[in-house]
Amino acid sequence: MNAPRLEVDLAALEGNARRLSAWCRSKGIALTAVTKGVCGSPRIAAALVAGGIRSLGDSRLDNLVRMRQAGVKAEYILIRPPRPSMAARVVALADVSLNSAPTTIRALSQEALRQGKTHAVILMVELGDLREGIMPQRLPEAVDAVLSLKGVSLRGIGANMTCLNGVVPTAAKMRELGRLAEVVESQFGLRLACVSGGNSANLTWLAEAESPGRVNHLRIGEAILLGRETVHHRRALDLATHAFRLVGEVIEVGTKPARPYGQLAPTPFGVRHSPPKRGLMRRAIVALGEQDADIHTLVPRAPVEVLSACSDQLVLHDLRAGLHVGDEVAFDIGYRTLMRAMTSPYVAKEYVGAPGQGAERR
Ligand SMILES: *Cc1c(COP(=O)(O)O)cnc(C)c1O
Repeated sequence: MNAPRLEVDLAALEGNARRLSAWCRSKGIALTAVTKGVCGSPRIAAALVAGGIRSLGDSRLDNLVRMRQAGVKAEYILIRPPRPSMAARVVALADVSLNSAPTTIRALSQEALRQGKTHAVILMVELGDLREGIMPQRLPEAVDAVLSLKGVSLRGIGANMTCLNGVVPTAAKMRELGRLAEVVESQFGLRLACVSGGNSANLTWLAEAESPGRVNHLRIGEAILLGRETVHHRRALDLATHAFRLVGEVIEVGTKPARPYGQLAPTPFGVRHSPPKRGLMRRAIVALGEQDADIHTLVPRAPVEVLSACSDQLVLHDLRAGLHVGDEVAFDIGYRTLMRAMTSPYVAKEYVGAPGQGAERR
C-alpha cells in the first residue's frame, strides 16, 4: 500500500453526520457540514450527504467545484466572504455566501442580475473574535443596503467565533446574536430565515442551553470530521473520533544521543529547545513532514513519542525499540494534520467503508 497515506473511514463519517444532524434537528437547528478541512473531498461530501446532510459549506470555491462536478447534491454555501473579483464564480457555484463587505455584495448583486439568478446572502456580525463580521451598530445600514439591491436576497445573519482569537460562543453571545436578529426584524418588518450561530465550538453551548433562542443554524466541520467540539476538545455526543488515520513508513532506525551536539541555530521551523533527556535513545525516522502533517496534532498508535519534524522527516523516540526500517506507523490526527494531509499531494488518500472503497489521488 501507499505510504504516507491518510485512511478515511467513510462509514464513520456518514454515521457522524447522521448522529449530529439528528441531534441538532431535535433542538431546532439546521446544519451545514463544512468541508474545508478535507479540501472538499467529493467522497467525503457524498458520505455526509448519505448521512442526511442537505447543505455543504466550504471556504474555497475550488472545493465547491470539486463537489459539484462529482455530482454531490446539496445546497452549497461559500463560508468565507468572497473577493469582489470572484463575484461571477460565486454566483455560478454557490447558492448562498457569507458576507461582510458591502462592496462585495454589490458585485454579487450585479453578477446575479447578469446571470438571471438570485443569490442568497448571510450577513456576518462581529461578536468579539475579530475575524469577519460587521460591527453590530452598523448592521442595520448593511441590511438596508442588501434589501435595496436586486439579485441578492437576505437569508439571515450569522457570527463566527473561536477560530481566530478563541472567543467562546457562550449563551450570552448567542443571546446577543438573537437580539440583533430581532432588532433587524422589527426595524425592517421582516423575518430572517437563518440565524447562523457558529461552528463546532457552539456544540457545548447547544448541549447546555435550555433553548437555542433565535439561533437556528450551525456550520460544523471539525465535530463531524473528528468527533470533537472545539472549546474543550472533548468528544461530542458519541461521535466517532477516529475516522482518519495517517500512516507513514520508517526509513531509519538507530541508537543515537538524545541531545543534539554542536553549536545550535534556529531551524526552518523555529528554535528547537533541546530535550531534557541525556544519554542514548532509540530513534526512528518516518517519511512524513510538516508539509504533510502538524506534529502537535499527531498522536501515535504505537509506543513511540513524537520528537520533532522538518518539512519531510518526522523523528520518533521508539520507546520499546520495536520499529524496523520499512515498518508502518499509524497516527490519530487533529484538525491541523487533517488539513495538511488532505492538502498534501504527497499523501495518498485511502477511502474505506461504505459508500464505495478505493483510492483517490487528491
Ligand atoms: C471553518 C468555519 C466553520 C467550521 O468550523 P469548525 O470549527 O470546523 O466546525 C464554520 N463557519 C465558518 C465561517 C468557518 O470559517
